[in-house]
This record gives sequence, C-alpha cells and structure tokens, in this order.
Amino acid sequence: MDLERFRQEAHQLVDWMYDYLKNIRDLPVRAQVQPGDVIRQLPTAPPEEAEDFATIFDDFKRIVLPGMTHWQHPSFHGYFPANSSPPSVLAEMLIATMGAQCMIWQTSPAAAEMEERMMQWLGQMIGLPDNFVGVIQDTASTATLCSLLTAREQKTDYEINHSGFTGDKRYAVYSSSETHSSIEKDVKIAGFGSESLRKIKTDYKYALDPAALEAAIEADLYDGVIPLCVIATLGTTGSTAIDPLKSIARICQRHKVWLHVDAAFLGSALLLEEYRWLLEGIEQVDTFVFNPHKWMFTNFDCSAYFVRDKGALLRTFEILPEYLKTSESSPVNNYRDWSIPLGRRFRALKLWFVIRTYGVNGLKELLRNHIRMAQAVSQEIEASRDFELMAPVPVSLVCFRYHPVGTDDEKKLDQLNKTIEETLNDSGKIFLTHTKLRGKFVLRFCVGQTQVTQEDVDKAWGLIQETARGM
Ligand code: PLP
Repeated sequence: MDLERFRQEAHQLVDWMYDYLKNIRDLPVRAQVQPGDVIRQLPTAPPEEAEDFATIFDDFKRIVLPGMTHWQHPSFHGYFPANSSPPSVLAEMLIATMGAQCMIWQTSPAAAEMEERMMQWLGQMIGLPDNFVGVIQDTASTATLCSLLTAREQKTDYEINHSGFTGDKRYAVYSSSETHSSIEKDVKIAGFGSESLRKIKTDYKYALDPAALEAAIEADLYDGVIPLCVIATLGTTGSTAIDPLKSIARICQRHKVWLHVDAAFLGSALLLEEYRWLLEGIEQVDTFVFNPHKWMFTNFDCSAYFVRDKGALLRTFEILPEYLKTSESSPVNNYRDWSIPLGRRFRALKLWFVIRTYGVNGLKELLRNHIRMAQAVSQEIEASRDFELMAPVPVSLVCFRYHPVGTDDEKKLDQLNKTIEETLNDSGKIFLTHTKLRGKFVLRFCVGQTQVTQEDVDKAWGLIQETARGM
C-alpha cells in the first residue's frame, strides 16, 4: 500500500470509526457467534498474492465484526470496563503511525520524558505521596509480578537474581481469598510456588481480615517460613471489596513485610476526594498499581505502577548489554530497566491526550456519574422484594441476585440466576457477568462505559427485572 492509498483508506476508516461509535447501540453487546464460526471463514493458508484493501476491509466487516463483543457498548456491564475514549483512540493512531520503540531515552526522548511527567500527573491525581515514582506497565498482572520480584530481591540482598533459589529457605505471600487470580499466577512465576500463597479469610464485606493476616504471618515465622509480601486489594474483582490498608500497613511495618497495593479497577476512584480515605496507610506501602485502561478512558494497555524505592526496582531488572549503552550527560529514565519486556510502546501519549482533553475535573465528573448511576440501581435493589444485594457497593459495581419470595433453595437460586445471565447475554441487549460470593452465584452489574447514560442504565435495569420476573 503506497502512502497515497494509505491516506485514502485511513480517511475511510476514520469515518467507519465514527459510525461505529455513534451507532454502537444497534449492535448486540456480546458476540452472537458459535465456537468455530470465525475460524471457519479464515483460509487455512496465507495469500500468496497481494489483496485489495477494500476486500480486506469488507472481510473485516463480514467476518470479524460479528465475532466481536463490543466492550465500548454503553450496555456492556460485564467484568470491569476497559473503557476507551476518542482522545485515547486518536493518540493510539499517532502511536501506531510513529511505531516507535520506547525502551531507552535515546530511542525516543519525548516518550521517556512524557512518561515521567504523566506518571507524576497520575500520582498527584490519585493523591499518592510524592516520594512515589511511576512507570507504565502493560497490565496489573505484570506490575504485581514486578513488585513480587523486587520484594524477593530486596529480601535476599539480590541473591536469587544472581544464584537462583538455593538452600531450603521458604517464603510466603499473603492476600485475601478474594484476590485476583493474577496474584497466584505471579507467585508461581516468581518461583515461590503457589503453595506459598496464603489466602487470608475475609470479613462480611469480603475485605481481608487483618487479625487473620497477622496470625498467618506469626504462624509462618514460627514454622521458619519468611513472610515476604502482602498484597492488599482496593476493589476486589468479585465485588470491589476494600482491604483495610491502614491496619494491613501496621502489620507489615511490625513484621517488616513488603506491601503491594492492587487497585487495578478502583484506583481511578481515588481521583475523587471522597475516596481518598482509602489511602490511609499509604506511607508504609512499597508499590501500588492501578489501571487507567480499566476505568480512566485510556485504551488498553496502560497500567500505572508506582514504587517508593526506585533503586530496588532498577537493581532487580537492570541489565545492560553493550548495544544499549548510551552516554547521556544528565540522568534520564531508561524504562527498559523498570519492567520485564525490553520493547515498549509510547503509551504515555494516550494519558496526555486523555487528561488534557477532559481535564481532571472532566474525568471526575464522568466517574462520579458512573458511581451515581450504579448507586441508584443498588438502592432500587435494596428496596425491592425479589432482588437481593449481595455485597456493599463502594463505587460502581453492583453485585446482586434475583431471589423471588418463597424460593430459598440455594441450588435453585444459583440455577435461576445463571439462566437469567444467559438469557440477558443471549439477547444481545445488555451484557453482564457473574461471580461467586460465599459460594453463591451472584450477578455483577458494573457501570463504567464512556458513553453510558442514565437512559441506558434505566433500560438495562428494566430489562433485568423483566427477564428475571418472566422466568
Ligand atoms: N487485579 C484486579 C483487582 C483486577 O480486577 C484485575 C482484572 O480485572 C487484575 C488485577 C488484572 O488486570 P490486568 O488485566 O491489567 O492484568
């Protein structure tokens, strides 16, 4: 494709992007295809000869689009959002066009310096103390892995990096039983073995029980196991439960244990002053992650990872082959030393576009609006005779189930709610997902889409009631 052709096609695609976002409500939220429907339409071998772009784009519309679940649909209420926004999409276009690798300062000084400044902005926006410095990671899973590896190296005086695991020392990592599955994966990858993850019991609000945490640490010390790291979650995936950071921080301080905070989704709420109390205890925190790519209108991937001890992070990851040596006279950030991959995209540009386009106040207004709409649904559920709120609603995720009067058998209730979920998702009109809380099947309704309006939420809640009561 020559550049003239690229220009024509790009203009057409921008028009398509506009139409897609404008008319997205007409599409089924969840893909309505069956397994195999897409792959069957893709040739088993690549084309030998060049194909016309118009044909490729037609195939995109014919084959790909029906196989997509539309995450930016205002009636997407499943999982957590991965909301994007027009300024973020525009930044992605520029990032892709420049196609720069931003692993060291020299490979794109603007990207390195923009990242440094954007992470300062984000830190200020969510009220982190200014002794934290930040780096953009691809995901919270990677950020937490970086935290675990840094904790491991700091604890062992960087010995495991050098000699691997030797001797018979055993380590333990602690998080609540509601913690995200990525934590267990990270514990495995970091070499501790999943057996060393202590899933601490939670209280009635699904938040980590600090007394149980301290008891587990003491039991490990008694058994000669080294308590390495506690991971506190602000906003668990199941129900956005909030672990009590202040109490956890005190325990970590007492036992000299590394403390990481996973605020992947809920971290965005810290933009709002009314949620800043969640950070009580932050002075003791070693590392902190939240995902602007979940609920801050920034396209995936963009995970904000903050550390108090930059030296420990760099010492854990630094490797300097000859071909990457440079000779800048003043200190610069070479972000390849701040994470696992060498190559990196220019993700800070998305943040720059998003934060400037909305302004911090504009972002706050969008978040408050989501929270207000979700809270209104939760109040309706509380007032209802046949729906039941299954967990507190600190921000914008409502966990509930349909519980008609007279049906109290738990198995029947699980099955009933499962059928409601399937019926709703099959309808293509809205999309929601489920979790299990205390063994009970629970529907999750999260409000967080960029374009979602009160009318969308009213319609969705109306449809849920109608579907459930029509079972
Ligand atoms: N932590 C929590 C609390 C999450 O809810 C999630 C994903 O939903 C993750 C971590 C993993 O996020 P990522 O996909 O950025 O690795």
